[in-house]
Amino acid sequence: MSMPLLAALERHIADLDARGLRRHRHTAASACAPHVDVDGHTMLAFNSNDYLGLAADERVVDALRQGASLYGAGSGGSHLIGGHSRAHALLEERLAEFLSPHLDSARTLYFSTGYMANLALLSALAGPVPGETVIFSESLNHASLIDGVRLSHAAVQIYAHRDTGALASMLASSAASTKLVVTDSVFSMDGTLAPLPALLSLCEQHGAWLVVDDAHGFGMLGAHGRGVLEHFALHSPHLVYMGTLGKAAGVGGAFVAAHETVIEWLVQRARPYIYTTAAAPALAHALLTSLDLIASEEGDARRAQVQRLVRQLALAPVPSTWTRLASSTAIQPLIIGGNGEAMRAAAALFEQGVWVTAIRAPTVPVGSARLRITLSAAHSAADVERLVGALATLI
Ligand SMILES: *Cc1c(COP(=O)(O)O)cnc(C)c1O
Repeated sequence: MSMPLLAALERHIADLDARGLRRHRHTAASACAPHVDVDGHTMLAFNSNDYLGLAADERVVDALRQGASLYGAGSGGSHLIGGHSRAHALLEERLAEFLSPHLDSARTLYFSTGYMANLALLSALAGPVPGETVIFSESLNHASLIDGVRLSHAAVQIYAHRDTGALASMLASSAASTKLVVTDSVFSMDGTLAPLPALLSLCEQHGAWLVVDDAHGFGMLGAHGRGVLEHFALHSPHLVYMGTLGKAAGVGGAFVAAHETVIEWLVQRARPYIYTTAAAPALAHALLTSLDLIASEEGDARRAQVQRLVRQLALAPVPSTWTRLASSTAIQPLIIGGNGEAMRAAAALFEQGVWVTAIRAPTVPVGSARLRITLSAAHSAADVERLVGALATLI
């Protein structure tokens, strides 16, 4: 029997291989931490998004156990059909209270993943008047925002990376009754920040909404970890905020915080919210402990530790053909260019016991393959010293 689909897939996979674009997974046999057992070797890892080191924190893990004793292993259903638990409700209340200095009449809604939250948000907000909605999307936005825009069926205009001038003219010439400007706050593969104060004032000037994906800022930026809202002291009824809880918060899931009417609409109509099983309540219960830690003095100390490591890594010598982006966040990319060279650099580090992931197209633009180093409060200065030493062998 001929199987043309399989033949086509095999051809495409071979082509990815030939172009240095084939992805492989390493298997970790221990918890997410700086030192991790990978395929039988103990590796020093600089590739997790566990920026505050909470993923394996005993207090968070204990809370997860307690959550399982209280609520069991699974939610048993979708949020609208029996799966919504008190743990979900408490988490939503805590998040709304935490962000209240920046959002008026805010309510929050917990999602099982950030990817689902972005699909839900964009499809539902464009939904009531799809023909009259235009989404203005930043060119380096995360894949989940791009897919959310696609699912919304709204018209989309893409503005160039951090180009507020281009966005201003697009907004000025748009007659759409609903305008949504959508952006990552911390660009996930660059570590740099979007010019949010300028974006927000443009939105207010043109009656547009600003949808901010703060996956890498929530818990990390701002004096209390309230993310980019606190970092830039943003406050506006036009804000729709999305934060993820599997990165700095160390557990999983995500939330949208916005005006209560926006959240009520998501509950009524967002298909990626409605037609999926609610995340295990134990996760929401564990997140209450994560949030306490994020907001505590210990959270401040952990954020300060990441900043010390960022400054330490900034002094590392790297090959002169590489480019270091001006990132002050835990995401510290070294842009190499070609796929082959980036893969060889990652392999040479791996051989020295240092695990850094090479990121290639389509995750980043073609020709900008890079090592994406991520730092965590769980790393020590000695860990970063080892990374710096390993990078030096590549010069
Ligand atoms: C990780 C990430 C997401 C997706 O969040 P998950 O909870 O991992 O699904 C969305 N947006 C950005 C910018 C991210 O980095």
